[in-house]
Amino acid sequence: MGSAWRSLGVLTVALAVSCSSTSPRPAAKRPVLSTVPAPSTKPAAAKPNQPKPLLDVLHYDVHLVLDGSRITRAAASITWDPETTLGSLTLRADALSIEGITLSGTELEYSHTANKLLVRLPNELPPRPTVRIEYVPRADATSGTADIRFAAYHSARWLPCHFHPGDRATLQLKLDLPSEWSAIAPSDVPNGKLGEFSLETATPPHMYGFAAGKFVSLRSPGKPGLVTAGRFDRTAHTRLTKESRKMVAFFAQASGIPYPGSSYAHVFLPGKVAQELAGMAFISERYLKTWPATPTEDWLIAHELAHQWWGGLVGAANWGEFWLNEAFAVFMTAAWKEHRHGRDAYDRERDLARKRYDATIQAGKDRPLSLPDDASEADVTDKLAYTKGALALFDARDRLGDKAFWTAIREYTQAARGTGVARTSDLIAALESAHGKSLTAWRERWLK
Ligand SMILES: [Zn+2]
Repeated sequence: MGSAWRSLGVLTVALAVSCSSTSPRPAAKRPVLSTVPAPSTKPAAAKPNQPKPLLDVLHYDVHLVLDGSRITRAAASITWDPETTLGSLTLRADALSIEGITLSGTELEYSHTANKLLVRLPNELPPRPTVRIEYVPRADATSGTADIRFAAYHSARWLPCHFHPGDRATLQLKLDLPSEWSAIAPSDVPNGKLGEFSLETATPPHMYGFAAGKFVSLRSPGKPGLVTAGRFDRTAHTRLTKESRKMVAFFAQASGIPYPGSSYAHVFLPGKVAQELAGMAFISERYLKTWPATPTEDWLIAHELAHQWWGGLVGAANWGEFWLNEAFAVFMTAAWKEHRHGRDAYDRERDLARKRYDATIQAGKDRPLSLPDDASEADVTDKLAYTKGALALFDARDRLGDKAFWTAIREYTQAARGTGVARTSDLIAALESAHGKSLTAWRERWLK
């Protein structure tokens, strides 16, 4: 399973959930109280001694020239910690045509096979070495139509990068655009210049991306500012703003951490897309046909927003732990739906996860949720994170009860906030600490 499968996987899973959860159901009649006890004021604790990925990229400075339907030229300056390389720098570069690589103006030798770019390094490196790579992405590096192009998740198609969920780096992105186009991309330091974006919160590359074209955006001020961009009508923006404010408050309470940025954008795009990025979500405009027309079908809005905490602020340390990102997004969506629409909505999400997991078992494709640290992206691009992973969290809540469970969730999230990465062992430790005893049966049931 390669990156192309992942593309289908992300969309298929997301849209499959959509299809099977779209039949309207009446909201529960009883009044709904918050399902999340109020958080304590305990401060976040940074976690020391988190192992570094083999390669630690610090910053990407990227310049892309968009000529309508494709990127015609590109250059990236990549800065890394030289203590994490020895003689060579290995990056993921999917179907890019590499034109030259330099370090401090000196040309470097490289080899590029399949999606692996290996750059030979000199023996002596400066304290913050930066290679500059000039390249041309393939025509399918972006998706969309003639007047809206976008890229999400598959960053290695437009940027040679260390495509590893635990290797967080800052990003400077400059897009040269056709006239009359505008663009949106992850950014937490607005500079007001068209096509220029600065993301100073270290973020894994699968949460980079951009959308560019003839589209509009609306912004509702507040904390965070809520932006709707792409193709949508004002009704959708109004509804999104209203509901997203409530979701932000819910996830902030569930995590014990306020929304981590100053703005959040929903970007509605042509074609199949359902992907979280730093500070935004790219969502198929088709989704607007089912929501907000059917208010209970807010699962995709909730899922992608939950990723700002679980996946973004606190994400998997490596591919082997990637289940944590999706399990939390699915579970938190159900928790939100319980809070907003009633217990039936929560149970329904759980039933969907169970049915899909049962189908995986029957197909003989069950596997442990957590894989070794050196697992690859291809090892985890199945549905188990969404189904078995979420079921593990549903079951943990049953076993611990609400008070201990939500305490554990907040402790897990807050403890990982320091490094931004988490492991299954961190989740177990938080659950067992809040429970006051070991969770042997739970671990046997879900993690073996
Ligand atoms: Zn997700």
